[in-house]
Amino acid sequence: MEIIEAPSSNFDTRLRPPDMLVLHYTGMRSGEEALARLCDPDARVSSHYVVEEDGRIFRLVREERRAWHAGVSFWQGETDCNAASVGIEIVNPGHDFGYRPFPEAQIRSVIELCTDIRSRWTIPDHRIIGHSDIAPFRKLDPGELFPWKRLAKAGHGLWAEPPPAPGAALALGDEGPGVLVLQGGLARLGYDAARSGVYDDACATTITAFQRHWRPEKVDGVADGETRARLMALLRLA
Ligand SMILES: [Zn+2]
Repeated sequence: MEIIEAPSSNFDTRLRPPDMLVLHYTGMRSGEEALARLCDPDARVSSHYVVEEDGRIFRLVREERRAWHAGVSFWQGETDCNAASVGIEIVNPGHDFGYRPFPEAQIRSVIELCTDIRSRWTIPDHRIIGHSDIAPFRKLDPGELFPWKRLAKAGHGLWAEPPPAPGAALALGDEGPGVLVLQGGLARLGYDAARSGVYDDACATTITAFQRHWRPEKVDGVADGETRARLMALLRLA
C-alpha cells in the first residue's frame, strides 16, 4: 500500500491507543481543496488519512497523534472521539456539492487502509462508524452512498440483513414500550439516544443516522419493521 505524506500541523498528543475508526467524506468541491483545508493551521481540522477518488492515500497525521476530525460527538459513552479514534476522510463533494457514488478504486483503498490500521491497533467492528453516527445532529457523512455492507464483507464493521420483518413502523409522535425498546437498542449500539419512550425529533434524527449507515435504502427517520429488525440483529453481533 503506497502512502503519500501530506503532513498537517493540526494535531495534539494522544494519551491512549485508538480503539475506534471514524469514516468521513470531505464534503468539498475537490480533493485538493480538502487537503489544503485539513493542512491549514487556521482551520484547526485534520484527519489521519485522506483517500482520493482515484484511490491515492494521503497521510496527514501519524496514528500515534490525536487528529481533529470528530468535533462534539458521542459513541458508546465516548465523548472525546478524537482521542479514541483514527479518522479517515474520503474525498466526495457530499450532500452540499453534488453527492455521488464512491468509485471502486477509492473503496478498495479504504478497505486496504482499514486492514492496515487494524493490524496495529485493537479496533472492534462495533467501533467502526461514520461521522453521522457519532454526531447525528450535525453531520451526514460519509452518507447513505457509502458501501458499509461491502466494507463489512471485507471484514470491517458490522452489517446485518435479517429475514424480512413484518413489525409495525414507529414514527414521530409515537410513544410507549415499543419506542422505549427502540431507543434502548440505539443506545446499546452506541448512539447518544435518550430512553424517553417518546418518538421525538431527536429520536427521528438518530433513526435517520442509523438508516444512513445500516438501512441506506430508506433514510426517512421512520423506524419500519426492517429498520427495527436490523438494529436488533446488529446488537446480537456487537
Ligand atoms: Zn466528517
